[in-house]
Amino acid sequence: MIAVDGLVKRFGEVAVLRGVDLMIAKGEVACLIGPSGSGKSTFLRCLNGLERFQGGRVAIGDLVLNAVQSPAQHATAVRGVCRRMGMVFQGFNLFPHQTVLQNVIEAPIHVLGLRRDEAVERARRLLDRVGMADRLDARPRELSGGQQQRVAIARALAMEPEIMLFDEPTSALDPRMTGEVLAVMTDLAREGQTMIVVTHAMAFARKVATVVHVFGDGRVVESGPPLQVFEAPAHEATRSLLAEAQ
Ligand code: ATP
Ligand code: MG
Repeated sequence: MIAVDGLVKRFGEVAVLRGVDLMIAKGEVACLIGPSGSGKSTFLRCLNGLERFQGGRVAIGDLVLNAVQSPAQHATAVRGVCRRMGMVFQGFNLFPHQTVLQNVIEAPIHVLGLRRDEAVERARRLLDRVGMADRLDARPRELSGGQQQRVAIARALAMEPEIMLFDEPTSALDPRMTGEVLAVMTDLAREGQTMIVVTHAMAFARKVATVVHVFGDGRVVESGPPLQVFEAPAHEATRSLLAEAQ
């Protein structure tokens, strides 16, 4: 479903991604781990078209992003890619002046063209799923970080994305709120949602990931099922990362 070949991303002289190869199949929960600055967020941003890159290619089904396409070709592909991917960031990024319900119905109405009542029905169902059905009229500032993040997940799901990207969705949260958000993500994974999760939450990766990819030095240095990567890491970079996380 996602194939990344030889992805190279430079910021000026600095090569942040130096040939990333990665495959993600439908229904997989891929956790990306790696030291700070190893390019995990940059990788997600290349995947969903927020950043252009200098080499290699990304294929999302039949949609291709590469370094040689024109800005217009790239923009067209990115529009398709954005329809297939939902993204949840570390910060909660809700629209601050809108209620919870308005946040979730906005894109389905304006991008997908749903009728308001259809969008509201969908939003209620998703907010119920993330445990926020009783806060439809709240504004983001009235919610805890964990509650805002659960609304952000519902908002992304409202576009019915084939793939959900998460970039350290719990790193700004205290342990209790982290638990609430990881529980929602665990449910999603169990329901078969294809997910790519950048995380420092190793216990979550161990329990929920179907595959773990370790970023180091601008590449994926090791990939495998969580038990293998955590119990018998093959690469020195993985061993030092896990030692730090203890
Ligand atoms: P963390 O775990 O801390 O979130 P990360 O693995 O997500 O780290 P990135 O945010 O992708 O790492 O950053 C990788 C490198 O690219 C860093 O050295 C960063 O300084 C650099 N970088 C990221 N974005 C830019 C940018 N817009 N301009 C210049 N350099 C950038
Ligand atoms: Mg990051």
